[in-house]
Amino acid sequence: MRSIARLELQYAHRFYGFKGEAQYLHGHSGGLTIEVEDSVNMGVNMVFPCNEIQKTAWDVLKNFDHALILREDDPLLPAILEVYEKQGIKDGAPTNTMKGAAFKTELATAYPDCRLVVTKETMTVEGMIKIVYDLLKDKLNIAKITFTSGVNAASETYETHNDIDRCPLCGIALRNGVCPKCGYKK
Ligand SMILES: [Zn+2]
Ligand SMILES: [Zn+2]
Repeated sequence: MRSIARLELQYAHRFYGFKGEAQYLHGHSGGLTIEVEDSVNMGVNMVFPCNEIQKTAWDVLKNFDHALILREDDPLLPAILEVYEKQGIKDGAPTNTMKGAAFKTELATAYPDCRLVVTKETMTVEGMIKIVYDLLKDKLNIAKITFTSGVNAASETYETHNDIDRCPLCGIALRNGVCPKCGYKK
């Protein structure tokens, strides 16, 4: 069975070098759906609490919300950083509080202080799915990711491993055999 969580992300990007309107900087409301597959955890009668999928995902994905996402070779990148630097907001601002932990993977690097994500590949809906799976695959048994952005949509399915021990009292993943929420010990 699957538990399904949905998140929304507002972001700006462009397809550098693409011969179409998308080569210009523009923004989207992106909709991300994460489907987590496992047996039903009999203690709580659910696969995984949807709000916990959302929380786990949002911890890292909030770096993409109200962010600018640019490919690493895009000349807009140094230009924008120069403006942010001059304006004194490159290394953070008092109002920039909704920051996730910085991350660096093969596909993307997040700079939360200036709400910027630098990607290796063009950030299409397909590209975003690859990035999200890479960031969350060890934390959730992801069976499917769907990402929509305007009229664009893509999805990918994955084989799950079902090796995440869950608390029978609140359903979340145990950490070293202990529930971080209620203290249950396996
Ligand atoms: Zn776009
Ligand atoms: Zn628990």
